[in-house]
Amino acid sequence: MDLVGGPLTTPPNSWIPVPPGSGFGLDHLPFGAGSVDGGRPHVVVAIGDHVLDLDAVRKAGHIDLPKAATRDSLDAVLPILPAVREKVARLLTEPSLQRPLAGAVRPVAEIDLRLPFGVADYVDFYSSLVHATNVGRLFRPDGDALPVAWKHLPIAYHGRSGTVAVSGTPVTRPEGQFTTGGTVDFGPTRKLDFELEVGAVIGRPAQGPVPISAALGHVAGLVLLNDWSARDIQAWEYQPLGPFAGKSFATTISPWVVPLEALTPFERPAPSQDPAPLPHLQPAGPTWSIDLTAEINGTPVTKVSFADLYWTVAQQIAHLTANGATLRTGDLLGSGTISGPGPDGHGSLLEMTRDGTRPITVGDAERSWVEDGDTVTLRGAASDGVHHIEFGRCTATVRPAPGGTP
Ligand code: CA
Repeated sequence: MDLVGGPLTTPPNSWIPVPPGSGFGLDHLPFGAGSVDGGRPHVVVAIGDHVLDLDAVRKAGHIDLPKAATRDSLDAVLPILPAVREKVARLLTEPSLQRPLAGAVRPVAEIDLRLPFGVADYVDFYSSLVHATNVGRLFRPDGDALPVAWKHLPIAYHGRSGTVAVSGTPVTRPEGQFTTGGTVDFGPTRKLDFELEVGAVIGRPAQGPVPISAALGHVAGLVLLNDWSARDIQAWEYQPLGPFAGKSFATTISPWVVPLEALTPFERPAPSQDPAPLPHLQPAGPTWSIDLTAEINGTPVTKVSFADLYWTVAQQIAHLTANGATLRTGDLLGSGTISGPGPDGHGSLLEMTRDGTRPITVGDAERSWVEDGDTVTLRGAASDGVHHIEFGRCTATVRPAPGGTP
């Protein structure tokens, strides 16, 4: 019996109760790393308002994993996540285990969720046609909106994995170089922005080119991702090699790795692509219908769908590895800012405010850019009437720059 993923019609019951509409039912089972009372993090699986502590399950003799695999992070679990998730689902649906595993169950509210995995290489793609077009028009008003290669390959840059932090970690306003009225200046960014993205987390590594048909087999799951951006620093530095200090100061991800198998009910055909990509980027593989929102200080400011992306995760992986580049467990592949076709579908303030020239209303205030003290929160969910899964929150509050508020 396929307990998790696949064409289920009615999710089976877990002996840990799942409140209606929780979004963390047995058909989901996302993985994270969490600490109780400041101690060493354990691998935990979310179910309802609780987590199952896999280190405690291992100690009780109910899961066959080495000690190192259930402690600190998901690093040893990611390559085998589908099998571990299947085992967890069987444990949670075996009523006789409720008593023996009672000590492995904790309220999620008591868990201090940490960075779920060691981020290996961080790559950020640029896969939204709407976003790339909007940005091109703003940054290069006199040129073509799209770079000439954009529809032939999923454009990306290599980011900085060491500054990827888990939701809840404050973000310090970066300082850097930019121009003001033709003068080169250095100081706190005046154009701090967020980018609403989803990150694909690599589970199984690969040593060489990955055929597109095998690409998704290397993905353990998805997280929400905020690619914080300093637009003035970015605009000054980005040509010809792409973003650097305007992006590398912070990237926030959500604490739960949503297993790819949990997204099976939400698979959709990828959007049509014209011109047709070269053979190594075909077939594109599926995308997923995931509703994504961004909030500033609790006020929603945008709503998009992951399915709005032009390039798929499978195409990103096939392109990334086509030259022989390896995949490592813990590689993080950002989707790029996701913008949709509607007027509310902008995944960044850069687009919403037209580079800061048209402030938006946020609650009782106006915002052109993110200000010190602001909290930006991304959320994701997928529903089809039977299944409903929540990604959890990807949130961070901005602290002033060392040099003070601009
Ligand atoms: Ca980005």
